[in-house]
Amino acid sequence: KDTEKKRNFCIIAHIDHGKSTLADRFLERTNMVEEREMKDQFLDSMDLEREKGITIKAQTITLPYRGHNLNLIDTPGHVDFTYEVSRSLAACEGALLVVDAVQGVEAQTLANVYLARENDLKIIPVINKMDLPQADAQSVKEQLIELEIEPDDAILASAKEGRGIDEILDAIIEEIPAPQGGIDNPTQALVFDSAYDSYRGVIPHLRVFEGDISAGDEIKLMASGKNYEVEEVGIFTPRMKETDYLKPGDVGYLIANIKNIRNCRVGETITEAQNSAESPLPGYREIKPMVFSGLYPSDNDDYSLLEQALEKLQLNDAALRYESESSSALGYGFRCGFLGLLHMEVVQERLEREYDIDLITTAPSVIYKVVKTDGETAKIENPSHFPPKNEIEWVEEPYVRAELGVPEEHIGAVMELCENNRGEFEEMNFLDRQRVILNYEIPMSEIITDFFDRLKSCSQGYATLDYEQIGYRESDLVKLDILVNKEQVDALSLVVPRDVAEKRGRAILKKLKDEIPRQLFEIPLQASIGSNIVAREDIPAHKKDVTEGLYGGDFTRKRKQLEKQKEGKKRMKKVGSVNIPQKAFMAVLEKD
Ligand code: GDP
Ligand code: MG
Repeated sequence: KDTEKKRNFCIIAHIDHGKSTLADRFLERTNMVEEREMKDQFLDSMDLEREKGITIKAQTITLPYRGHNLNLIDTPGHVDFTYEVSRSLAACEGALLVVDAVQGVEAQTLANVYLARENDLKIIPVINKMDLPQADAQSVKEQLIELEIEPDDAILASAKEGRGIDEILDAIIEEIPAPQGGIDNPTQALVFDSAYDSYRGVIPHLRVFEGDISAGDEIKLMASGKNYEVEEVGIFTPRMKETDYLKPGDVGYLIANIKNIRNCRVGETITEAQNSAESPLPGYREIKPMVFSGLYPSDNDDYSLLEQALEKLQLNDAALRYESESSSALGYGFRCGFLGLLHMEVVQERLEREYDIDLITTAPSVIYKVVKTDGETAKIENPSHFPPKNEIEWVEEPYVRAELGVPEEHIGAVMELCENNRGEFEEMNFLDRQRVILNYEIPMSEIITDFFDRLKSCSQGYATLDYEQIGYRESDLVKLDILVNKEQVDALSLVVPRDVAEKRGRAILKKLKDEIPRQLFEIPLQASIGSNIVAREDIPAHKKDVTEGLYGGDFTRKRKQLEKQKEGKKRMKKVGSVNIPQKAFMAVLEKD
């Protein structure tokens, strides 16, 4: 059978344990990348991914080895993209579990092992970075036992020095089952990722389970119900390379003039229009944004530019949502929905870099459910729309279950952090003598502020965080408004727990005082709940014009000074008579 010579696998690892480096070695070993083309970490292709050192878009490659085709499906490396990871895993029969020989098993290693098990993948453990003097394979093996993984199967490797590479590729052939599936069955192919090309449209990346696909076929996307004619199919080398067919067990792409990503999301099942499969492959899910923020152009004239840019970004980002909104402080902009904070950052950075738009972004918020006295339930994505106290029966907010990987010596600090963020302790499990996994239930709104940064700083960078949504719970919340120069600035409003509202108000004003530059007049800053002012700070007037004191004749110096001022105006918005810089809009995340 022709599936006998195919293997589909992914590499799962905690960040920095060597996934991308190992993938590079595979490319070299199978001569898929010419040495001179070999950039470090071929699989992380977007600039942003390189900078952040993580994978956002999965990459796929077919590796020819010992007469077999080994399909490596890379998976996104961040908790915002768990659903994409799960679909990539569903496209595989096996997984390489890469564990750093010095760091050992970490939170993301665990999360990935569970995901791999849920998808019935054969797991091949690889202990990487064996070249390091501190490498401790024995400790890692003990951790593997805790995970019920056979330690004797672990392959000792160094992706950096190329050690263990053949052994791993051999194990993929020997240990991972060949795909099942029959070419005569009605076609079923899983879309686990997609790319976008401005000429050819959405290009789904897919794994064929049953039947085959070739150019000229009329296909049907089972979730969206749309039909298309296939123009081209092919595999990844890692560039797209046209082939005659995709058959059971194959991983590749198709082009069918699909204009809108909404018609071909990750998780879709592709079948034939005529001889359709009876049911789609399991696991399709609509993905919903969890975190919302307002995006406004610094320059009002850029509004339509921003709209066009968002429209384009959405073509290859099915999770991005946007709708126009207006703010009395910021003018016209968009309320955007993201999967999580990282997703939000990625979108903002792409808008600024690729489309050259200067943005003002408001602080991220979750969706609150407000049950009102008139019996209606409102979903509030924008804190400035939070109803006043007398209209509220009760409020619910989204919670997550957070899994924190913590070295023993930092347990106390991390528990304190969780408790200060309204975390409810669930359980603690020792991974080994040095490391524990803490489970907390925490409001999502606490996680999307500076929680992650604080977690890193209270654990010297060693703690890790992973989380999943667990639904809505009732909380006692109020809207805190901020007034600048006696004017309420809607874009600075936020929703906070009632019992810390005053303290938060004071902390925010202190921060705003630092961020808002002095002007020629004194600026009062106030925080209010309803009509009660709960905090106040004043920004004193600055005394001199900046050009004062420069000699009248010294034009170049004067011009330089003015240019500097102009630079400083970027990412700044005039609200009433006060210039408010971008950073000030994030000040509302300040807790103490
Ligand atoms: P990823 O986040 O899992 O994709 O990890 P990377 O492949 O980006 O590797 C993270 C860091 O570890 C990089 O600086 C690599 O050069 C380094 N690294 C990867 N494999 C090895 C190895 O076998 N030995 C050593 N010493 N360093 C390695
Ligand atoms: Mg990587």
